[in-house]
This record gives sequence, C-alpha cells and structure tokens, in this order.
Amino acid sequence: MATVVQAHERECAVCTNDFNTPKLLPCGHLMCRQCVISWLDSKSNAGCPLCTCPIVEHQVNSSRISADVVDALPTDSVMEAIVENASILMKGGMCTVCDDLKAEYICMQCLEKMCPSCMKIHKKMVVSRSHDVESVSTVTPERLAASRPALCADHGDKQAEMFCVDHNLAICTPCFSNKHKACLDVKSLDEKMKSAEDAFHSLREKLLTAEDNLKQAIVNLNVRVQTADVTEQQNMALVDKTCDRLQNLVDECRKQVKKLISDSVSKFKNSLYDVKSELDKRLGKVTSHKHLVTRATTVRPRPALIHAAKTLTDRVNNLDLSDKVEAEAWVNPWPETMTYCDDVVKVIGDELKSIRQIVLAEVSNLFNFSHVQHDLI
Ligand SMILES: [Zn+2]
Ligand SMILES: [Zn+2]
Ligand SMILES: [Zn+2]
Ligand SMILES: [Zn+2]
Ligand SMILES: [Zn+2]
Ligand SMILES: [Zn+2]
Repeated sequence: MATVVQAHERECAVCTNDFNTPKLLPCGHLMCRQCVISWLDSKSNAGCPLCTCPIVEHQVNSSRISADVVDALPTDSVMEAIVENASILMKGGMCTVCDDLKAEYICMQCLEKMCPSCMKIHKKMVVSRSHDVESVSTVTPERLAASRPALCADHGDKQAEMFCVDHNLAICTPCFSNKHKACLDVKSLDEKMKSAEDAFHSLREKLLTAEDNLKQAIVNLNVRVQTADVTEQQNMALVDKTCDRLQNLVDECRKQVKKLISDSVSKFKNSLYDVKSELDKRLGKVTSHKHLVTRATTVRPRPALIHAAKTLTDRVNNLDLSDKVEAEAWVNPWPETMTYCDDVVKVIGDELKSIRQIVLAEVSNLFNFSHVQHDLI
C-alpha cells in the first residue's frame, strides 16, 4: 500500500489535534468522540463540520444527544492505530533505555526508542536480535503500525496468535487454552488477517467501481446540461429565423394587398375621368351652340336669321347631345385580395405548426435521455 497518511489527515476538524477515539460519521468523515459530543451539544442539529451531512441519522431529542448516541457510531480502529503510532514516534526525544542520550532509532517490534549504543546492545541480545530497528527520522506512523506485532488482549507483552470472534479479541495461545476453550469461533490471527484483507480488497473494488460509475454519471449529466444549452440556443435561433421570415411575409402581404386595392381603384377612377372629360366636351359644344341660338333669336336680323336657322339646325342635329357614356366596369379587388391573404395565412399556419413540432421533438428528446418523463409539454 503506497498510500501515506499525511499529518493533517490525522487531525480532527473540530479540535485540530490528532484524533482521540476517531468516530466514523455516516458521511465517512472522522471526528474525536469527545468532539462529536461537544459539537452536537453546541448546535443540536449540527451537521458534519466538513460536509454538513447529518451526524446522527435519526435526529433524537436534543436532550438525548449524549455519549450513548455518539458511542453507537463505529470507531475507526485503523486511524486510532495510526495516531497511536504517530504519538509514539513524536513523544520525547530521549533514549527510552538509558534515558541519557538522544534517541535515533526505534525497534519496530518492541517500540523501544534508542540511542546508537543501546541500539547495538538491542541487536546483540538473543530476545531482540531478530527485531527490525530503523532510524526514527525515516519511520512513518503507518509503517510502525503495520510492523507492530498484535499483542494478547490480556497479556500486554505477549504476542497474540489467535483471534476469538466470540469475544472479538486477539489472544495468545495460553489464553486460548485457559479462557476461550468453549468459544465457538476461534481462528488463527493470520487467517483472520487474511480474510479481513480479502474483505477490504473487495470493499475497495466495490468502492472504486461505484466511484467510477458516479464520476461517469456526473460527466454524463454535465454533457446533458450542455446539450440542453445547445438545444435551447438552436431552437431559439430557429424560432427567431422563422418568425422573421413570417414577419417579412406579412409585410409583403400588406404591401401587395394595398397595391391590388389602389391599382383597381385608380383604374376605375381613370375611366370615370375619361367619361367626365367626354361629357365636358359635349357640354362645351352644346353651351356654345346655345349662345348662337340665343343671340340669333334675340337679334333677329333679316334675312340672316333664315340662313342661320338652316345652318344651326344642321349643326345641332349633328351634335352628340347624349349624356350617356359607358365607364369601364368596376373590378372589385376583394376576391383576389382574400385569396392572397388566405394563402399567406395558410403558409404562416403551416410554418408555425412545423416549427412547433420541431421544437417539441427536440425538447422531448432531452427528456427521453433522462429517463424522467415530465408532462411539461
Ligand atoms: Zn477532535
Ligand atoms: Zn462529513
Ligand atoms: Zn540509550
Ligand atoms: Zn525490539
Ligand atoms: Zn494472553
Ligand atoms: Zn473467546
């Protein structure tokens, strides 16, 4: 295991000291037992100081946030062992054998910190000859924790070789014969270590897989958020473009219909003007001949009146005295206008319907990917 526990990882977030009985919170963070108690006492529903997750899964009455509740949380025995070994490495600098000189070495088995001369003696003595002795400056708390022998729970100095599952204790062989004979589940310590390691191996695999899956799910979620943004932009642009085009269509329709109406009206008016100018001409001739006739009957010269009667009778008989001139028929532009408008309305309706379908299809696609179908549409 290459993982090294950094010094700050041994620190409790509340008291900032190395953990003292590290309790495992539901979120996976650690806090000293005493710190959980005082943290909960200070704020009755305080969450984990690192992630705000609830510390007690089922909120109990605030009066009952007591040692019992906190003791029900499991203790991280691995962190406990690391902290314990870190403190052995840090405590004092003097040789624990002679108490005279500065300690430079540590025995990985009996945890004796020694000066160079005591170390030499340790290496010569029969009982400790095979012990690993290392320089204090290079040993890490984890390495020390890993190489320390397990001691019998009853005999502080005797090495444990067995593990009684019934009592949940590491025990030495004599203790097994004396006190745990009747226990049903006692295994060799190595065997229990092996099965614990196997359990950790499969836990690690399980957590790694879950971690990968969750990371991938989050990546996928981000991709979907981006897709939603892109879809939004594209659809907005489509709506703008279509509406602009329809707006142009409406403007063009307005122009064309107005032109149809004004063309038709001015054609009709021109025809009326033509009729009027023809009637004006006839009126002019009639009026001037009326003057001739009036003058002749007023003056009555002889024999000019007789001649003039003949001439003017001929002339008036040839004048067009009719007040009827056909104007061109009025062509009502309305039917054509209506057809044109209906066409435009149909085009606009179709375009709006199809843009609605496109947008709905794209938006509902986004939802289909999410496996969550909402009735938003
Ligand atoms: Zn603490
Ligand atoms: Zn937390
Ligand atoms: Zn010494
Ligand atoms: Zn030793
Ligand atoms: Zn024992
Ligand atoms: Zn037992």
